[in-house]
Amino acid sequence: MYWDEDVEKIDRNELEKRQLQDLKASVKKASLSVFYKERFRKIDFDPDSIRSLEDINKIPFTTKDDLREYWPYGFLSVQKDDLVRMHSSSGTTGRATVIFHTRGDLEAWTDMVARSMYMTGMRKSDVFQNMMTYGLFTGGLGFHYGAEKIGALIIPAGAGNSKRQIQLMRDFETTVIHIIPSYALHLSEVFEEAGVDPRRDTKLSIAFLGAEPHSEKTRIKVEEFYGLKAYNSYGLSEMNGPGVAFECPFQQGMHIWEDNFLVELVDPRTLEPVAEGEEGELVLTTLRRQGMPILRYRTKDLTCIINGTCECGRTHRRIERITGRTDDMLIIKGVNIFPVQVEKKLMGIPGVGMNFLIILEREGYNDHMIVKVEVQKEFFSGDLKQLENLRRKITEELKSDILITPKVELVEPSSLPKSEGKAVRVIDNRKD
Ligand code: ADP
Ligand code: ZN
Repeated sequence: MYWDEDVEKIDRNELEKRQLQDLKASVKKASLSVFYKERFRKIDFDPDSIRSLEDINKIPFTTKDDLREYWPYGFLSVQKDDLVRMHSSSGTTGRATVIFHTRGDLEAWTDMVARSMYMTGMRKSDVFQNMMTYGLFTGGLGFHYGAEKIGALIIPAGAGNSKRQIQLMRDFETTVIHIIPSYALHLSEVFEEAGVDPRRDTKLSIAFLGAEPHSEKTRIKVEEFYGLKAYNSYGLSEMNGPGVAFECPFQQGMHIWEDNFLVELVDPRTLEPVAEGEEGELVLTTLRRQGMPILRYRTKDLTCIINGTCECGRTHRRIERITGRTDDMLIIKGVNIFPVQVEKKLMGIPGVGMNFLIILEREGYNDHMIVKVEVQKEFFSGDLKQLENLRRKITEELKSDILITPKVELVEPSSLPKSEGKAVRVIDNRKD
């Protein structure tokens, strides 16, 4: 059973034919906006000159800075009157960008989210607790309307208030949750403190994990603790929000919905396409959006494309877990490190708890990396030697992967600052 088998299992030739039609229309539509009108004029580009999908190369990339520069209305391709909703990014890396939607845009977005959820097995009979911030952030309303389309019973819980979240799950027999992965780990400690075992005391069966990079190890931790299947959900507000790419039951990469997005992967330095199977920056073009089409948007997210048809039969290509954003990368003593590398290592070491924090300091010309790691309670009540052994083990394991020796400090469970939104993994005190 599929939400829309004709679309999800579409023959790739047919898909590309449709993509070309939609690309032509999207470029024309975009040319009505102040931003693209100016840009096309500058490069002497005629929207009618798109004759193949490769012709997209004639158009320069669009960046977050462009969106900021033409903020708030410079990307609109319709009258303001035709808009029905505004959303914005979380502003993780500066001024939040805003995106406007027409009624049709919202319907298309809702369909993609519904399709994604349905793909994992969520149905009308499910009780869906949406633990994401509602409001400007896209994770709340994006999933809300998708779940409503499926016909599930929605608990619009929003983020935070862990005890109430657990109560809601128990009282209303929640079966599906949408949750930020770092918060799912934190919540597991609240469950433990309250003596509630989600496997025994709840009906949870599916979790959607999204909004921030996380490793396979974290997925497994969440699946084992809660007794459910956890699916990776990727999206960004510039491309609507959630529902851009999503895992199917085979959990081998996320299907990226190519009927709505044209996908490119480029080397972030040269901006040339990467070779097949190589990692690159994801670049996306909206194919259907009316209010605010965006062409060749540099997401800054690094991933690989998995070619070939998935075992589930869907023909939309898959992307690997996101390694991080190009601007997340830490350069320490000349070595490039992504926070998720540290997460991946830590979550695989027995005894490590649910949270960690990287602190970067500069002394003269020397950079230091301090990694604070929450470890299980037992380590603080018992033999200090055991604690020291764990500290050494963590230091060694990290060093083997990131190649520099961090200063590891072990701290008690729940002692590091936590956020209701995306986890803050790094504090960089090196900036002058
Ligand atoms: P901001 O760019 O301000 O954080 P958004 O709320 O639009 O605003 O967040 C989108 C970004 O969140 C993506 O570009 C990506 O970096 C990250 N993200 C979202 N989902 C995932 C996921 N499943 N895995 C890794 N990163 C994700
Ligand atoms: Zn699949």
